[in-house]
Amino acid sequence: MKKHIFVLYTGGTIGMVPGAHGLRPDAAFAADALAPLSDGLSFDVHTCAPLIDSSAVSLQNWRDWLDILAQKIPRYDGVLLLHGTDTLAYTAALLALALRGLDKPLVLTGAQRPFAAAGSDAPRNLATAAAALAAGRPQAVIAFNGKLFPAVGSSKCSTESDDGFANPHFGTLDNPPPQRPSEKTQTRFSDGLTVLPLDPQAQVPCLTLIPGFAAQQAADTLRQTSARAAVLQSYGHGNAPDDAAFADAVRAYTARGGLLLNISQVPHGRAAALYAQGNALRQAGAVCGGRCNLETATALLTLAASGGWDRRRLEAELAAAKLV
Ligand code: ASP
Repeated sequence: MKKHIFVLYTGGTIGMVPGAHGLRPDAAFAADALAPLSDGLSFDVHTCAPLIDSSAVSLQNWRDWLDILAQKIPRYDGVLLLHGTDTLAYTAALLALALRGLDKPLVLTGAQRPFAAAGSDAPRNLATAAAALAAGRPQAVIAFNGKLFPAVGSSKCSTESDDGFANPHFGTLDNPPPQRPSEKTQTRFSDGLTVLPLDPQAQVPCLTLIPGFAAQQAADTLRQTSARAAVLQSYGHGNAPDDAAFADAVRAYTARGGLLLNISQVPHGRAAALYAQGNALRQAGAVCGGRCNLETATALLTLAASGGWDRRRLEAELAAAKLV
């Protein structure tokens, strides 16, 4: 019997066609693209209106997609999500973290070149996705260039080659890391599918440290913002300059309940309590983000801000996803 797959087609290069101002999403591609994969799978396609270039993704999109998936997942054997590559890794992390008790495959894919273009990578990516759906592993994954990446921890790493994604900390499914993030999540939330709340108005500023003025700018933002959670992209193992005004601003922000998640800006970097240089930041109340990449941190803090998490909840979620 064929597996029944729900397809959420959100847009992206995979289905684009040339328009007057450059490539633009097109509704027609999904049926043609999926036909060669229908040996063991049958597809019901939901085409979003409008289809978007994923660089335009909003929290409202995420909320709408979660609502659709919450309805559809219980009625299908798996989900294929077609998405632009620009923000695919953000959406993948968000879905993996927000959908609790996922007991079917949720496979995200896209392509570097349109399905209709000569030499497109789309057919290979779709075939990889179809194989993952047929295998039925109950996990959120990105299918790209013949590989399957765990959703949490993945990043777009190239616009120039078909090898568009990587997951520096957690690897690929056929090259499994010692611990995979989704496994623990699954055993912990095995009592049916639940969806964490997502507030489309949630604000998560991202503060990136670079040499020079950035610590002062980050301090100004933390003093002024009403956002309940912010990402700090620090150096190396989570280190930041010794700047008293910055440490004061972090202390004041965390004292009024703000969550500041300190992550490394190194692609394969882990924020950890290793250096004295990061100590002032830790003492000021920043939460150590461990192996969180920017995509994972963004997804997690969007859910934290939406759900009113406190520091303990954030730390528990980081541990459950094996990020720390
Ligand atoms: N700008 C496109 C998008 O993210 C890029 C792609 O799909 O590869 O929608």
